[in-house]
Amino acid sequence: MDPYAISKLPMQHFIGGVFTAGHAVDRLAVFNPARAEPIFEIPRGTAADVEAAVAAARRAQRSWALTTPSERSRLLYRLADSMEAEIETLVAIETLNVGKPRRNAHQETRFAIDLIRFCAGAARCMEGKAAGEYLPGHTSFIRREPLGIVAGITPWNYPIVMLAYKLGPALATGNVLILKPAEQTPLTTLKVAELAAEILPPGVFNVVTGDEVAGAAIVRHPDIRLVSLTGSTATGRIIAREATSNLKRVHLELGGKAPVVVLDDADLDAVVAGLRKGAFYNSGQDCTAATRVIAAAGIYDRLRDAVVEMAKAVRVGDPDTDDTEMGPLVSAEQLARVSGFMDRARATKANVLTGGLPGDPSGYFFAPTIVADVEQNHELVQHEVFGPVLTLQKFGTEAEAIAFANGTDFGLGASLWTQDVGRAMALSRDIQAGAVWVNCHDAVTPEMPHGGVKCSGYGKDLSMYSLEDYSHIKHVMVRHETA
Ligand code: NAD
Repeated sequence: MDPYAISKLPMQHFIGGVFTAGHAVDRLAVFNPARAEPIFEIPRGTAADVEAAVAAARRAQRSWALTTPSERSRLLYRLADSMEAEIETLVAIETLNVGKPRRNAHQETRFAIDLIRFCAGAARCMEGKAAGEYLPGHTSFIRREPLGIVAGITPWNYPIVMLAYKLGPALATGNVLILKPAEQTPLTTLKVAELAAEILPPGVFNVVTGDEVAGAAIVRHPDIRLVSLTGSTATGRIIAREATSNLKRVHLELGGKAPVVVLDDADLDAVVAGLRKGAFYNSGQDCTAATRVIAAAGIYDRLRDAVVEMAKAVRVGDPDTDDTEMGPLVSAEQLARVSGFMDRARATKANVLTGGLPGDPSGYFFAPTIVADVEQNHELVQHEVFGPVLTLQKFGTEAEAIAFANGTDFGLGASLWTQDVGRAMALSRDIQAGAVWVNCHDAVTPEMPHGGVKCSGYGKDLSMYSLEDYSHIKHVMVRHETA
């Protein structure tokens, strides 16, 4: 880690190509969750800061929209290259601020860079229908146009990846962007802003730091044409409601409660390895985390025993240590939330097979946890815990498995484990989710869409579909003499 590079990070908004203290009176503490200690402060953005960001974005909007796809692509590639050149600093910042094990932060930063490169290429590949004559003497064609000023609001669990989810498609399609990172984890966003200052025209990418005060001002602003939130379902509901003021588009990537349906012919070792990553990566603070095992009676007991052994073996500790698999939770609030779920669970018939308690008190650690004997209506099954907690349920028939899998408000990710292709095809059709993984869990790639159904939201991140969401189509009809 280069502490000097981190200490030089500007803790300010980034508006119109420069860092600025803005109008905020209050500042918010940013923590190192592995040590439970405050490390920096950021301005708590206000409506006036959002107004300044909109003004800067407005000044930049027309000329950015008129750049050719080739030019936008070139600048996005340059930004990705510059992030790659600074990857060690970005990784160190992400590890420090989110408590992610360093190798996870590395993997995620490489993914973010790759996604920006995908969007840089995709900027030049947007397609439409062929022009044609649908009325005599009139030729119609379709223009794909940017929306204008768009906003991204990101959560604390994957800061640099979420930045790329919002920045890549927004800028590739000719929009200008205002990004509000989560108040807990704004640091890599500010570092990328510093890099972008050398590459992007002023006002094309703006960052307003702060919490729901700045977020609400963004959502209410009449000149912002789209708000893309990745966050909780509760915040998604508020934003969808508030966005009706000017009928701006909303793009909502919300919570999840991913089922893991294990049929009796599944490869047990593969399931356990998949759950080790699926349930405990990022300390379970993941919208697609494997949270609910739904296992066939024929494999249930063996799987339960193997999963408990696995959870006990997960290496929890200092995120800066090479072989650490799982770091702390992100904040004292999150630790209290996860602890609360487990305290309440102990008062029910739920059987906590391992974990269930906080870990090393010098940081916000929580032990990998496996809970059996939970009914479908138990809150551990129905609500996002957003911690390293995995529940186990047993099913008799496949219809029951599907009823369990679909029996929550969420529908983001799901996985299915079987050797039988036919059963995999049928069950993947019946599971209500934006993504179903067969014999793996939570594999993502820039080329394929990510987004949910039901209370997990709507709109797609990643893939060409995300670029469509950030643009609109215009029909142009030209009347002319026909031959
Ligand atoms: P959150 O909803 O509390 O906050 C997300 C962002 O919204 C933050 O930047 C926050 O400041 C802002 N915000 C909060 N209230 C707001 C309001 N009233 N108006 C405007 N902005 C507001 O979520 P979180 O706790 O930061 O993140 C965890 C949640 O994110 C989980 O529910 C998780 O499932 C979800 N998530 C979803 C995905 C996905 O792709 N579907 C990915 C990662 C995280």
